[in-house]
Amino acid sequence: MSRHIKPRMKMVTSQLISRGITDEKVLKAMEKIPRHLFVDEGLHDQAYADNPLPIGERQTISQPYIVALMTEALELTGHEKVLEIGTGSGYQAAILAELADRVFSIERIASLADRARKVLDSLGYYNVLIRVGDGTYGWKEESPFDVIIVTAGAPHVPKTLFDQLTVGGRLIVPTGDRHTQKLLKLTRTSNELDKAETKDLGGCRFVNLIGEYGWKG
Ligand code: SAM
Repeated sequence: MSRHIKPRMKMVTSQLISRGITDEKVLKAMEKIPRHLFVDEGLHDQAYADNPLPIGERQTISQPYIVALMTEALELTGHEKVLEIGTGSGYQAAILAELADRVFSIERIASLADRARKVLDSLGYYNVLIRVGDGTYGWKEESPFDVIIVTAGAPHVPKTLFDQLTVGGRLIVPTGDRHTQKLLKLTRTSNELDKAETKDLGGCRFVNLIGEYGWKG
């Protein structure tokens, strides 16, 4: 038995269930996916700790609880077409691949996208398509999406992404300044962003979303 299974089970009970994550499918996916494979070998023993970890290029794999919170908020049923902005390690994409139909993920740093692709292939997540580029433009040719998840902190909700949602679709995006953000969940009800149903899921701290409709550098 892999020495990582026990810490992974413990992560689910002590970090997720204890903080109120109840969606069985999210909990199962996080029990199943070997998070340690998404970080460098030297960090394998820290992969199930209650914090984000470095993945190179000054970027991070998010804290397990934040991944669970964002995923639960997407309310996935298994049929969705998902867009993720910020592939990073590929861990969140793997969780989404377990719970939705197809995942489109955009990463601005090519070396991270390459590494994520290799890990996802090694685990058989062929329903994830990764593209290198500025995710603040979204992925117009593949739109509309049932859900969009932004895993980097934005100065404001990118209208470009909102426009690529189906009506009834959900957009999760950390929004605030460069250091701290609020995790927002928007549900599209019409073409107008300011009429979207908006819920604040709490405070968070993400690396910056850098791009045309994010932070400039
Ligand atoms: N979801 C990732 C995971 O599971 O490991 C964590 C993502 S990390 C917190 C944020 C990622 O967003 C970084 O890899 C960063 O390079 C990327 N990023 C920042 N701005 C971006 C943009 N405009 N388009 C695409 N990726 C972007």
